[in-house]
Amino acid sequence: MISADETARHENVPLRLTSRDAIEQEVRKRVDEERRRLERQSHARDRVHFHRPVERPFTAAERHNVTILFGGLTWKHEWLIRSAFESAGYKVELLPTPDVAGFQLGKEYGNNGQCNPTYFTVGNLVQFLQGLEAEGMSRQDIIDKYIFVTAGACGPCRFGMYEAEYRLALRNSGFDGFRVLLFQQSGGFNQAGEADGLEMNVDFFLAFLNALNMGDVLNDVGYQMRPFEIEEGATDRAMAQAMEDLKEVLRTHRNQRLDGRMGAFLTSLPAVGGMAEKAGKFADALLGKEYPEALRQVGDNLRAVRIDRTRVKPIVKITGEFWAQTTEGDGNYRMFPFLEREGAQVLVEPIGTWIMYMIHQAKQANTDRAGVSEDEAMPAAWRIDKRMAADLQARKKNAALSVAEAVFTREWNRLREALGNIPHELTDQYELQRIGHPMYNSRAGGGEGHLEVAKNIYYSNKDMCHMVLSLKPFGCMPSTQSDGVQSAVVNQYKDMIYLPVETSGEGEINAHSRVQMALGEAKVKAREEMERVLEQTGRTLDEVREYAEEHSELQDPLYKVPHAKGVIGTAATFVLHVDDLMSKDAPATAAVPAGAGA
Ligand code: SF4
Repeated sequence: MISADETARHENVPLRLTSRDAIEQEVRKRVDEERRRLERQSHARDRVHFHRPVERPFTAAERHNVTILFGGLTWKHEWLIRSAFESAGYKVELLPTPDVAGFQLGKEYGNNGQCNPTYFTVGNLVQFLQGLEAEGMSRQDIIDKYIFVTAGACGPCRFGMYEAEYRLALRNSGFDGFRVLLFQQSGGFNQAGEADGLEMNVDFFLAFLNALNMGDVLNDVGYQMRPFEIEEGATDRAMAQAMEDLKEVLRTHRNQRLDGRMGAFLTSLPAVGGMAEKAGKFADALLGKEYPEALRQVGDNLRAVRIDRTRVKPIVKITGEFWAQTTEGDGNYRMFPFLEREGAQVLVEPIGTWIMYMIHQAKQANTDRAGVSEDEAMPAAWRIDKRMAADLQARKKNAALSVAEAVFTREWNRLREALGNIPHELTDQYELQRIGHPMYNSRAGGGEGHLEVAKNIYYSNKDMCHMVLSLKPFGCMPSTQSDGVQSAVVNQYKDMIYLPVETSGEGEINAHSRVQMALGEAKVKAREEMERVLEQTGRTLDEVREYAEEHSELQDPLYKVPHAKGVIGTAATFVLHVDDLMSKDAPATAAVPAGAGA
């Protein structure tokens, strides 16, 4: 507390000093006094501040004895990432999907006032470690034999605080010294330290990205199949088998190495050395057919599931905060199975969009900062040489990022193509920026930035969904900002059905009932669309169904039905397509006799 005397002394004594030096001296004196006072106050309250502990490193020697823990994505992504780790010789275990019990532990051991993904993910780790202890493992063994790996960032939202939160909660729950390893999500392809047990190098990131991309495209296909499967449960069974097959492909993948005499020769060249091996790895990733072939095989197996596309279902696009829109558990009230039970088709968000967003934002920041580095002002106008050098530097960086965009999109499309182009295309970041920027400044970082707003407009305007459901965690700063903007968006696009749901770990019934209400409107929209299409084609749904049963390829989940402008629903699009096929199949109408008619 500031004593009354001290306050009076500072507030009531005006600075009546004449020289600049005297003023500066007085200010410095008062600042020092205030600092001493705050230090006294802090000691008096015996407040212990959290400091980042010096952590024991995870060394290469420990690699075969220590188990890496990770989680936080969908089970498909996690399975594939685990296999990628295993192929590099690591012992890996997946954390379970976070639940409410974990959330409570996160609150108990973490700081106050965090956003709820922090509580869920931090508590989930503590819960897992407590489970190991309950099974009879000593705390010291747990601390020695497990580490946790997660993504980190220094963004403006609380994501930048996750690392500290993990450490604080671990200390508070009695696991002080448990190691948390971070790879920076914007840290590029090489974050390896020489003696690190976890080599975050080109191999690691290529394997990681491949696993993420394959998880994305399969996840997308699964959500397009399940609502239409003729035999209940067939999609999940086929997906489980697909994951087993892919897991094996990733696990047995061998990283590209420069072997033999030529390899030894190339790596010995000082100017080529490491570059040759890296280039080889990229070439292997770009030209290699292993993963597309494996997905093609998986696709062939998925074709055994038969689907009926004539079921009228509203398409619900999921957007929101990264974690809340990805997790498949209590963190978003188990929203995806709930929506499917309620008769919706869910359009999930791929992690690939996020990766492209990060590249896009890096490019934008690089352009904005051209010529200015963190500790240096823009060179004077007459230093044309320095300005040109800075400009060239920025162009080079942007060129490299453009290559990264092109390569990532190409890889994505190769995997898409292996599954009959059924997974959606990656959304164009430049288009999202163009759409979103007038509403939400695309330079505003944190969370999903302008994406939340832009996706709402994009998916609604492109006839890709009947409704947008934004899942945003309680206490999420960027989502709170974009919520304000969304009301302007909804005012401008009157036909849009948009529902933001704040996920807080509690209040599931309330959230589900709000979704049900909005879904009611979306169902009406889907039904009216179908009536319009049936009227336009002059067909009945029974006729279309009958035709599809006679043409088994139309029940194939990887059969590509062309998208029709102005039509959203899977069933309505299918009716238009079948009508087209039926018209082509119909016998040619009898020739009109010469001279008849006008
Ligand atoms: S985006 Fe929101 S929920 Fe996610 S870490 Fe940042 S503040 Fe938390």
